[in-house]
Amino acid sequence: MTSSILKPADDSRAWVEIDMSALRHNVRTLKSRLSPGCEIMAVVKANAYGHGAVEIAAQLRQEGISTFAVATVGEAVQLRESGLDSEIVVMSCTAPQDAGLLAAYNLTQIVADGDHARALDETGYKLSIHIAIDTGMHRLGIEPDNMAEIEGIFARENLKVEGFATHLASPDSLDADDIAFTRTQCDTFMDAVNALKSKGYNVGKLHMQSSYAVLNYPEFTCDFVRPGLSLYGALHGASTAKNPGLRPVLSLRARVAQVRWVKQGESISYGRTFLTTRPMKIATVSIGYADGVPRQMSGTGAQCLVHSQRAPIVGRICMDMLMLDVTHVDNIGSYDIVTLIGRDVADEIRCEEFAHRAGTITHEVLCHLGQRLPRVYLP
Ligand SMILES: *Cc1c(COP(=O)(O)O)cnc(C)c1O
Repeated sequence: MTSSILKPADDSRAWVEIDMSALRHNVRTLKSRLSPGCEIMAVVKANAYGHGAVEIAAQLRQEGISTFAVATVGEAVQLRESGLDSEIVVMSCTAPQDAGLLAAYNLTQIVADGDHARALDETGYKLSIHIAIDTGMHRLGIEPDNMAEIEGIFARENLKVEGFATHLASPDSLDADDIAFTRTQCDTFMDAVNALKSKGYNVGKLHMQSSYAVLNYPEFTCDFVRPGLSLYGALHGASTAKNPGLRPVLSLRARVAQVRWVKQGESISYGRTFLTTRPMKIATVSIGYADGVPRQMSGTGAQCLVHSQRAPIVGRICMDMLMLDVTHVDNIGSYDIVTLIGRDVADEIRCEEFAHRAGTITHEVLCHLGQRLPRVYLP
């Protein structure tokens, strides 16, 4: 017996569609906003926010991007094994037990503090590193006034310092206090780096801006920006001062499994939370919370698109299925396509709307999309 991985048929129950032309458009749009000499370090952690890290990185490489960032050493190894020849920066804290992987796969590690640097150095592997400075996020990094700790890392025999990073806490806020805080974070970072420069250290490449900071603070000038979400075109519109004209890359679609009429006063789905207020035509759709449609979206009035019309989700979302009220939609039948995120001819549900209904942000929606959903790439 041979085993083979079957490609999903055209009538596959649910899938994620990735529009590579939208990705290319977003790269070009972001590039046009960068100051001369500044490049994109593309953030492709969490399977490129659910878009498929290997495919997305390969496409970005073709668009001229030559530096990538991931969260974990495992994500970096996957990209390297796929043939990606570019610099790959690992942003979260890699344990010394994995230092051999950093060296073998020629990865760049962001070190969190002096202890992290010491532990990596003591493994004996020769490693390329960037140093994280904590300018107010209080997540990873060394306090900028702790020059001795930073200089101690430069003195480590096996570590080569090739850059410095910080991370901004509120680049998506247009509130005056948050803007002031963000500017202070930037100044603090630059002051620390300049102090090191004046002591004769080569600080290497600098980077601090995630997506919202690229758009809201184009005047910050570093060697790299670190956008993730904006590459995928899934920003929250209210969080940027100007509409950058980015295009959503991802759509989430599923097929109708069954359509039936239900009498008035009947309950739909688990827990009997929804009762029909009139005879209702109900479509069962083959997608559920195991595919990344959050269960807490149940009962919120969240809608899907079918035949380009909006239809509300009724009753509790199940693990593999959910139900829609399609009373007003004519000619609907099994295998018809339902759009949960994306465009269906005349109407569109943005990831932002979907996230709002789920009580979260687009980042979380995208990285929770089910691993079992096939990713279909449109050129
Ligand atoms: C995830 C992450 C980014 C990218 O953030 P977006 O908001 O998706 O652009 C950048 N830098 C760091 C340190 C991150 O963890």
